[in-house]
Amino acid sequence: MIAILGRDCTLKQKTDVVRRLEGEGYNVTVNVDGDETIVGVLGAALPGLEERLRAMPGVRETRLDVPPYALVSRAHHPETTRVRASGVTIGGDEVIVIAGPCSVESEAQIRSIARSVALSGARMLRGGAFKPRTSPYGFQGLGEEGLRLLAAVGDETGLPVVSEVVGPEDVELYARYVDVLQIGARSMQNFRLLAACGRQPKPVLLKRSHMATIDELLNAAEYVVTHGNPRVILCERGIRTFETATRNTLDVSAVPVLRERSHLPVIVDPSHAAGKREWVEALARAAVAAGADGLLVEVHDDPERALSDGRQSLTIDGFDRLMRGVRRVALAVDRTIGGAAPA
Ligand code: PEP
Ligand code: MN
Repeated sequence: MIAILGRDCTLKQKTDVVRRLEGEGYNVTVNVDGDETIVGVLGAALPGLEERLRAMPGVRETRLDVPPYALVSRAHHPETTRVRASGVTIGGDEVIVIAGPCSVESEAQIRSIARSVALSGARMLRGGAFKPRTSPYGFQGLGEEGLRLLAAVGDETGLPVVSEVVGPEDVELYARYVDVLQIGARSMQNFRLLAACGRQPKPVLLKRSHMATIDELLNAAEYVVTHGNPRVILCERGIRTFETATRNTLDVSAVPVLRERSHLPVIVDPSHAAGKREWVEALARAAVAAGADGLLVEVHDDPERALSDGRQSLTIDGFDRLMRGVRRVALAVDRTIGGAAPA
């Protein structure tokens, strides 16, 4: 439930509303939207609360039709949140492109890819270290050595780094090496992992599960925020449908829906949706046209020999082409994007 306090409401009236709610045992949020102040009640409100609040001086309106994920909802917090990750801001005018290999494979590999994607305009570097593979026989990643290489190359190139953490027990280790902790599609409802990422201060890139509704994604984000970390970036990466031509079906509609329901920044991973590099650029352009605040793209210097997700990984040249194509779309929707202007 939210209470909207109008323009003429005094500071004392606002304080009285908040005190009354806290006195009754509720946790509340207070956000300003232009002339209005929105006081949100976290969790279920007991019968009669709405009437009592509405009778208080300064309260213009109360609303019950607000989502249960109060902290991440736009109803409680109308202004879009910008998440800053080591100097890069996600959720502002610039479309932030995060690029790199599915997995860190060697020092030479991650360094060569990082340098190339930076030249094409990527603003952050991705790379998996502990890989959650569908098959236990697939490449499982270099582990801590992968994180160390990622961090070192990130430092050299000036790109903040993103990597997926798979278990709550690894969160502390990751927080030492990476700038953004990724929670993968398979872990979106690992509630202990969500809580552990919520208890540390670095931004969290939360991917939508291929089996989750938009509301389930937002509830998962709420877990991270309720545990203390408001710096969450939402990521659409394709969902499972009856279609088998693509690896997943990119739910482009999730972008405007998430932006309407939540104040958190929204990015799109076209690589895990497409499953094939030929389709990645088109999906990336669609995502930016639909309002995405960023992209997460897999790039490899030798995709045919990649140890994971080579088929969907762009070549270095392919990524450069993608950046040029996406830049035109970004400009058309009044956004900017890193790197050189279109030729
Ligand atoms: C990845 O980013 O490499 C990954 C495993 O993605 P997802 O969790 O979306 O499958
Ligand atoms: Mn991958």
